[in-house]
Amino acid sequence: MKKKEVKGFNVHDNEKKLSVSELPVGDIVEAGTAVDFYTGSWRLQRPVWNKEKCINCLICWISCPDSCIKILPDKQKTSIVAGIDYDHCKGCGICAKECPSKIKAITMEHEKK
Ligand code: SF4
Ligand code: SF4
Repeated sequence: MKKKEVKGFNVHDNEKKLSVSELPVGDIVEAGTAVDFYTGSWRLQRPVWNKEKCINCLICWISCPDSCIKILPDKQKTSIVAGIDYDHCKGCGICAKECPSKIKAITMEHEKK
């Protein structure tokens, strides 16, 4: 990924993904840079999506606060779930909670570090 300067420090530190603990304490960064921060590094639980169970209702997609549910157009020109963006998913579990109870296509598992 391209190296980017934000308020005097390197977000990507020469291609190395910065963890949250490496960011300057109390710093203010420019708006619109959320994609540059790998918030997945602080995740304690990981959502695991089961493609076979998923009915593509997209409730998880509209519920995720970090836009981490990936979607793609399908042959009928609607959208279908394509996976989870683990670089930015914080493991909040909202997607798993909101997935319809009769479907439960997303389960939370402990993150292996
Ligand atoms: S666990 Fe939270 S951040 Fe991760 S995909 Fe689900 S709703 Fe989004
Ligand atoms: S909420 Fe559950 S069933 Fe609906 S699209 Fe997401 S994973 Fe699939």
